[in-house]
Amino acid sequence: MPANRLIDLSSDTSTRPSAAMRKAMAAAEVGDEQKGEDPTTNALQARVADLLGKEAALFLPSGTMCNHIALLVHGRPGDEVIAADIAHIFTSEAGGGSVFAGLQTWPLATTRGIFTGAQVDAAVREAGSRAPRSRIVAIEQTVNRGGGAVWPLSAIEDVARAAHGRGLAVHMDGARILNAVVASGVAAKLMAAPCDSVRLDLSKGLGCPVGGVLAGSRAFIDDAWRWKHRMGGALRQSGVLAGAGLYALDHNVDRLAEDHAKARRLAELIGNVNGVQIMNPEVETNIVFIDPSASARKSSEILADLLSHGARMGASYGMIRAVTHLDVTEDDMEAAAAAFERAVKGKRG
Ligand SMILES: *Cc1c(COP(=O)(O)O)cnc(C)c1O
Repeated sequence: MPANRLIDLSSDTSTRPSAAMRKAMAAAEVGDEQKGEDPTTNALQARVADLLGKEAALFLPSGTMCNHIALLVHGRPGDEVIAADIAHIFTSEAGGGSVFAGLQTWPLATTRGIFTGAQVDAAVREAGSRAPRSRIVAIEQTVNRGGGAVWPLSAIEDVARAAHGRGLAVHMDGARILNAVVASGVAAKLMAAPCDSVRLDLSKGLGCPVGGVLAGSRAFIDDAWRWKHRMGGALRQSGVLAGAGLYALDHNVDRLAEDHAKARRLAELIGNVNGVQIMNPEVETNIVFIDPSASARKSSEILADLLSHGARMGASYGMIRAVTHLDVTEDDMEAAAAAFERAVKGKRG
């Protein structure tokens, strides 16, 4: 690796396809996906449906589109979606749930994005013609802005019981569900079982260049297919992308544990820097949130100086977010923490 290589901790989406992944992409058999004739995409969909214990799955260009389509299938305009106030569907999808599905939002105050069945019960609207219809509960696995917090299986079951008891659908935005699986040892199928729909991202810790997969019942996926086509998400020779997904499921899942270890190491090192506080010291998965407010410097200043030392982290609502992934090493954590300390002191590289 070149000495001046950027240590990019701004997101696990910064991963680039490895040489072996590119080889698998080049070798993938392809056909017309829009006609259901791309064998590699079909194989990926079957593989993810099986992994998540659902009848069917659908390959989509992005995780955001997976969420938009799940909300469209489950809800009707004027319906309400209940989720944590920090949920990606509320904070980071440009209001897509209201634009496309016409949904109102009910954001719940939570600790790190995890809520209870009792909170769902309390949020469901009273029946009657004046109130919007509560229709969807969405949970995020892991919780991105919760510092990669893992929803315990019992909490998923508790929320799903409350939701289903009131006739609401449960969608899991499982962008990093496999990080949760590796961290907790709970099988993906078990986490997905209480949910009506669940999705995962290929383009984050799994290291693929593009894609997400949405899973659910056969009827759910049939409806989702129509929305995929409508939104312009139907593809042609997508096997070159799906091939990366199959490669990632074979090679890049168990190794997520290494990313979690790197994140814990980074938090330990940065936790010793004066004037900053780790917001999620338990570091369950691959995300570290750093609060610099007790230092003399703003996040934006620290991030700019950090970059001058060859490391990049992200800004998130006044906090600094660092995400580990397969393109950074254990040694990079030492280097990034040292750079971070210099940046907090206002030294430029
Ligand atoms: C990244 C992310 C998304 C969106 O996925 P994209 O593939 O970037 O569109 C949705 N939800 C969560 C929790 C995410 O972390």
